[in-house]
Amino acid sequence: MTFASAGSNLLLSMGQASELKNELIETGRLLYEKGMLAGSDGNLSAKIDENRLLISRSGVAKGRLKSGDFVEIDFDGKQISEGGKPSTEAAMHLTVYKNRSDICCCLHSHPPYATSFAVAGIELDRNILPEVAVFVGDIPLLEYSPPGTGAISEAIAPFLDKNDAFLLKNHGLLTIGKSIEEAFFKHETVEHFAKILWMAKQLGTVNRIPDDELKRLDQLRQSLTSS
Ligand SMILES: [Zn+2]
Repeated sequence: MTFASAGSNLLLSMGQASELKNELIETGRLLYEKGMLAGSDGNLSAKIDENRLLISRSGVAKGRLKSGDFVEIDFDGKQISEGGKPSTEAAMHLTVYKNRSDICCCLHSHPPYATSFAVAGIELDRNILPEVAVFVGDIPLLEYSPPGTGAISEAIAPFLDKNDAFLLKNHGLLTIGKSIEEAFFKHETVEHFAKILWMAKQLGTVNRIPDDELKRLDQLRQSLTSS
């Protein structure tokens, strides 16, 4: 590689990182405005390339993120950039990227409705709303893992090959996507679904999508995710 091409690659990479930061800042603002975060809750990350990611730093308000509120780490968890400590849940994000090369973004927050189901230990079944069956799929409810200890990584690993949304018992929600927008859509869809299900439970009846229709929706999801 010539010096000139190395330089242009570096510029390209810096430009890409700054674009990702802007998108994550906007996503943090949306998560906050939609009431999915309080205080310094949650963490956001995006993959820069096959060995580096940007992650929100520990202790900052995700609704008011600034460019300096992200740190760059490699896939071994080593901090590359300066500017504070990475999120205490960095291990969870790394587990996702290491196990799913197709994923470019991880979003974690504590949305009230979805988290209520996680606290109550009630699964959010995919056979209730077609949008959930097609665009999110199963949402496994993971056993409680103490935050910041790396235990969430162990809990999530067995479910990563088939799922893009995870309810963390007594904690919150994690969604992952091939883009920041896709991870956000899944986050929003799961919370909206949890709200509808909560309301339907107040009315007393929760009807399920019939099995043969669910099969058709699953096939549709399959064709969309494999394209
Ligand atoms: Zn959390």
